[in-house]
Amino acid sequence: AKAAGRNTLRFFDPQMQAVVSARAALEAGLRDALAGDQLQLYYQPQVTGESEMTGVEALVRWLHPQRGMVSPAEFIPLAEDTGLILPLGHWVLETACRQLASWAGRPEMAHLTVAVNVSPRQFHQVDFVDQVLTLLERTGAKPQRLKLELTESLLVANIEDVIAKMTALKRVGVGFSLDDFGTGYSSLSHLKLLPLDQLKIDQGFVRDILTDPNDAAIARMVVALGDSLGLAVIAEGVETEAQREFLADQGCYAYQGYLFSRPLPIAEFESLAQSYVLQ
Ligand code: C2E
Ligand code: CA
Ligand code: CA
Ligand code: CA
Repeated sequence: AKAAGRNTLRFFDPQMQAVVSARAALEAGLRDALAGDQLQLYYQPQVTGESEMTGVEALVRWLHPQRGMVSPAEFIPLAEDTGLILPLGHWVLETACRQLASWAGRPEMAHLTVAVNVSPRQFHQVDFVDQVLTLLERTGAKPQRLKLELTESLLVANIEDVIAKMTALKRVGVGFSLDDFGTGYSSLSHLKLLPLDQLKIDQGFVRDILTDPNDAAIARMVVALGDSLGLAVIAEGVETEAQREFLADQGCYAYQGYLFSRPLPIAEFESLAQSYVLQ
């Protein structure tokens, strides 16, 4: 068995090698991206049932010099594995806070909240709270306008520490949303302990909501849960008016998705926000 194992290993060697070096190249590229200015934030509107834009999610983009746009779905997991998520996450937070501060004097932008995705590894840094407080202070962004999107994977270990950090940030006004809700394994008893403001229905449940009774049931359950816990519920990945209507019938509060807009570079997002105010 040992010999066979060794043969198998040798057989896969070139392929493994290719995977390893592709990863290494991506990692080196990501370091350059952080050092240079290949990273950008795109902004996707969050719209209420009354067609008001109340917020926006900031989504990171990597404009690779050779490959063009590399999806965060590809490089965020790598950044998490390598620890690059720490400088990357800090850059995202800082950029979002600067943007918030720059909107403060503009009537068509000043009411918007900016939601920022925070990786578990980033959140678990001992000085995470201090980092956020320092960034808010340094940029002048209003804490009440910043919302942090956390995922359920954060809740598997060290729940007391998570609650303590959230509570410290909530005290100054920072809001919290639980992202991709329903895809993880958070226990409902944990959920009750967290100082959350919002639950986000994952797009995986929205996609087939009109045809898959299980997805519809989960969406209904999340809205009911949000109601009973006093949390706003937002659905992501809303692409059609029929999906939006179905979610509205369940009592969903806000929506995000291609139905309203794709994530946009800053200039395009600002003109879209302007048109929302004028409508
Ligand atoms: P996510 O937080 O669940 O973000 C939603 C993703 O769905 C985004 O993909 C967005 O572009 C996409 N999306 C929005 N509306 C629609 C729609 O109507 N239909 C479909 N099919 N997709 C839609 P994106 O921007 O590629 O980001 C992928 C994931 O990468 C994010 O998922 C998030 O987990 C991660 N990510 C993105 N930016 C950051 C960041 O700054 N920090 C961290 N830690 N993670 C990030
Ligand atoms: Ca998110
Ligand atoms: Ca999400
Ligand atoms: Ca998602």
